[in-house]
Amino acid sequence: AAAVASAAANAPAVPGWKHAYSGKVRDLYIREGESDLASAAEVLMVASDRISAYDWVLSSEIPDKGRVLTGLSVWWFDQLRDLVGNHVVSVDVPEEVAGRGLICRRLDMFEVECVARGYLTGSGLADYRRTGAVCGNALPDGLGEGSRLEPAIFTPATKAAVGDHDENIDFACTVEILGQEDAEALRDLTLRVYERARELAGERGIVLADTKFEFGRDADGRIVLADEVLTPDSSRFWDAATFVPGEAAESFDKQFVRDWLTSPESGWDKSGSVPPPELPAEVVERTRARYLEAFERITGTPFPG
Ligand code: ATP
Ligand code: MG
Repeated sequence: AAAVASAAANAPAVPGWKHAYSGKVRDLYIREGESDLASAAEVLMVASDRISAYDWVLSSEIPDKGRVLTGLSVWWFDQLRDLVGNHVVSVDVPEEVAGRGLICRRLDMFEVECVARGYLTGSGLADYRRTGAVCGNALPDGLGEGSRLEPAIFTPATKAAVGDHDENIDFACTVEILGQEDAEALRDLTLRVYERARELAGERGIVLADTKFEFGRDADGRIVLADEVLTPDSSRFWDAATFVPGEAAESFDKQFVRDWLTSPESGWDKSGSVPPPELPAEVVERTRARYLEAFERITGTPFPG
């Protein structure tokens, strides 16, 4: 709850729109005439420059991060258009949030985070080591950190409240939440979109280890890809040039932040309850460069200045 309160306080005023919700990174607005988020026809989704690490929203921001997240999402939505419809209505937003805001159809969101994993790491690896499976997907013996999964697997999770971890669930549990038909539809879409994206990112020197999609249903009952897609915040990107299967890969975007926070220099205790300190300017700048590099490598176009 603390994260939401401070994020809302930072949300910029946007003419014609009123603030309705803030997550760790994004601020949501509805049109001034609408009464609430649940009934609004459209939302303005604004990606801030906030950054989170180890489940903390840091006090330092990464300049241009919000524009990278939004620009990348828009680019991916376009690439994936023939596989799945998306929620974007317009990128033409008030200048206060230029480049960071997106006007979207307001959807009834499915209460399941649709994760695809094409490489074993993180909570997937932990589950595998404990049970030999991830979210009910039995895997062969002998896999380890960074093993490529062929085909990729669907590893859904329930959405946790701010400050909590999402919880991995199996397909049967997904069916209980969504019903058989929608659960199958989301699983199939998630895997198809992931496989396309893994291939495309791979051609550009980025290993797309895993990613999380959020889907919603539109007013006509159609399933639509929503939220942000295939950004460094919703995905694990690794640098293909330095990736070695079997070794823990470094995060393409948050590597410098994590390295510094866990170094003696920061003086911060990751397992304690004290918020992380402000990042040194150099860590901010190197992190910003990584976000821009991810955008440029994936889209093959210079980041708009
Ligand atoms: P976290 O801080 O863990 O990321 P969050 O995912 O709730 O929490 P954000 O990602 O910052 O917060 O905010 C985006 C919110 O908007 C999410 O709750 C997401 O489900 C919701 N959302 C995305 N697209 C739509 C849409 N088209 N209609 C309605 N809600 C949407
Ligand atoms: Mg989110």
